[in-house]
Amino acid sequence: MRRVYFDHNATTPLAPQVVQAMMPFLAEEYGNASSIHSVGQRARAGVEQARAQVAALIGAREKEIVFTSGGTEADNLALRGVVGAAERLRKHVITSTIEHHAVLNTCQALEAEGICVTYVPVNPAGLVDPEEVRRALTPDTVLITVMHANNELGTLQPVAEIARIAREHRIPFHTDAVQSAGKIPVDVRALGVDLLSLSAHKIYGPKGVGALYIRGGLPLKPLMFGGHHERDRRPGTENVAGIVGLGAAAELAAAHLDSEGARLAVLRDELEEGILVRVPHAGINGDRHRRTPNTTNVCFDFVEGEALVIALDLKGIACSTGAACSSGAVEPSHVLTAIGLPPERARASLRFSLGRQNTRDDIAHVTEMLPGVVEHLRELSPLYKRPVAATPQ
Ligand SMILES: *Cc1c(COP(=O)(O)O)cnc(C)c1O
Repeated sequence: MRRVYFDHNATTPLAPQVVQAMMPFLAEEYGNASSIHSVGQRARAGVEQARAQVAALIGAREKEIVFTSGGTEADNLALRGVVGAAERLRKHVITSTIEHHAVLNTCQALEAEGICVTYVPVNPAGLVDPEEVRRALTPDTVLITVMHANNELGTLQPVAEIARIAREHRIPFHTDAVQSAGKIPVDVRALGVDLLSLSAHKIYGPKGVGALYIRGGLPLKPLMFGGHHERDRRPGTENVAGIVGLGAAAELAAAHLDSEGARLAVLRDELEEGILVRVPHAGINGDRHRRTPNTTNVCFDFVEGEALVIALDLKGIACSTGAACSSGAVEPSHVLTAIGLPPERARASLRFSLGRQNTRDDIAHVTEMLPGVVEHLRELSPLYKRPVAATPQ
């Protein structure tokens, strides 16, 4: 059976070059990067090369990069780090309604601790209005965090505009760039951000490693306490092989950024056209212009998204819904409901996220399989009235 993987926003396979870069550090180069002997120093050299590679991907300085256990920890460190370092009696944070749960649930935890949080809404295209952020400012605001690319829709937020507002008011600004860094050009100085999160496994690196960019001089309280690693910002013996893998993944992404982005945008657009032409009652969610090149989110009316994911999986096609399973019930995606989709349409939506190994043949295969699978599921739906064929006289 032909297998097509269209779930790169969930995770990506390791690039062969990444595996190659990591191998020595999983075997003979086992040193602790803090040891002063040569075994340790070779591990240190691997970590520092990776720091330079990550810094180069986003236009940062090496000492502004802190390695973490992934995008989730980078987001947690950014939010709690800035809020914790702020010396205020009352503290207020501004974010958006469509953030990844790594940010949203950290905000909820902060609320439980007495921090005030404003969740700025998005328009039906999935975009935050920077003026809404400006209106949400209070004298107590200590942090603004708005993601760069959304993981479900791919939509790109006006991060540079929001960063300008933050700078005018001298408020630190964080962006979760897990879905943009390595896919489109990301430059921390051009964007004007103070903190930026990224993750290795979304860009063909290993799982369990990521990085937080922290602008030089920005006060940050660490999440954990221990040794003096990462300039006292993130203690614990470094995950050397993982960090080396992140560095290699960052360098590889940077080398092919424009060509791969252009290639994927063509394939993604072909997939969308193929679906819209062949499947009735299908529509694209979110802004079709301002988004990452690899992502599309499609609503198939009268279909249960989970059922469609399972039916496609049986045909060898991997994609996903944005739904979260909480306490046994399938909750519609918070992102799709935030852009104004009614729950039944949010539940009828699928995300296809393309990647490096996908080809035009994959697109053709999926656009060929989809109409039959969707039609079959619709026949089972009490809501769907099948178009009645003309009866022969
Ligand atoms: C995947 C993802 C994360 C979490 O990163 P992990 O490395 O899996 O912890 C955070 N934000 C966004 C937008 C993501 O897509």
